Amino acid sequence: MPVVTFPHMGKMELPVKTFLREMDISVIPPPQSSQKTLKKGKEYAPEFACLPFKINLGNYMEAAELGADSILMGGGFGPCRFGFYGELQKYLLQEAGYEMEMYILEKNIFHIKDIIKELSGNFSLTKMTRSFHFTWSKIKVMDKLTEKLYNLRGQVVNKEKVENDYNKLLKKLDEAETYREIDLIEQEIDNFLQIDNAVEKKLTIALVGEIYTVLEPFTNIDLARKLNYLDVSVYQTLTLSHWLKNFFTPGSGQKKLVNKAAGYINSFVGGHGLNSISDIYSLKDKVDGVVHIMPFTCMPEIVARAIIPEVIENENIPVLSLIFDEHTAEAGVKTRLEAFIDLIKYNKAR
Ligand code: SF4
Repeated sequence: MPVVTFPHMGKMELPVKTFLREMDISVIPPPQSSQKTLKKGKEYAPEFACLPFKINLGNYMEAAELGADSILMGGGFGPCRFGFYGELQKYLLQEAGYEMEMYILEKNIFHIKDIIKELSGNFSLTKMTRSFHFTWSKIKVMDKLTEKLYNLRGQVVNKEKVENDYNKLLKKLDEAETYREIDLIEQEIDNFLQIDNAVEKKLTIALVGEIYTVLEPFTNIDLARKLNYLDVSVYQTLTLSHWLKNFFTPGSGQKKLVNKAAGYINSFVGGHGLNSISDIYSLKDKVDGVVHIMPFTCMPEIVARAIIPEVIENENIPVLSLIFDEHTAEAGVKTRLEAFIDLIKYNKAR
């Protein structure tokens, strides 16, 4: 039977493992993304490929070395390169000497059914529906937990305690085997993080941009944590559940996003470029500033970045744009964040 792996994107490992195991499919997750992963991917990827492409290629190579022989990843279409990832990566893996089968999930239930059948050796629609439903319950709780972490870690003095509580609950969620266990974890989220040691002044920053860079701490050099440790709460609209909804119902919600963007952008430009502008505009009165992040050469976010100066000028909202690639240095990112937060504080105090 095939042994399946998948690309990392934030905490996606938890639901993917849950779903595959529920479907009796053998799975080997890649090791957590690291400089070693990037180095491997970079060696074979075209120089101008976007950073997620290089990291994912490295993920597959590392998983292959652990015994995985098949890859499950999402497909796509539209004005961005994501739809070409699978085919190109398959070719590059062969060039690099990795014999792996690539299964690209397209947005079509019959196609997904065929893939599951091939990977598990049999297929039952009831079982697949049940597994999807169970996995979806975990994803919703996981997103809620992360939202709490990003909000509260920025508000309390004892940040390590919040992190420890978060990690314990995440582990429990990973191991949960019943709906009852998931419900209990959700109840615990409401109780576990109490603000009993709040910082003096609270700031909130929205984190927007290309979804992989927003969700994957290795790619953004743990930006949300860095902001939290500067006593800043982080709010983000992009989550794993958001990505999955978009994947299975492409185009849904676009009209709403265009309306929320208030004329600064009028159409879908691929990836999450439209979301970036729509978020910046619609959150302008709810947050103290916005950090916009993207990988080098990301086409949709290049469009968004060209519009951002006009939004800043008209709406008087502070926005810091950061571009990430394999040469991005942690110290440089930290310095720019500190300067940005100081500027916001200075402007608020005037
Ligand atoms: S959204 Fe940007 S980073 Fe992601 S695949 Fe498209 S071009 Fe690359």
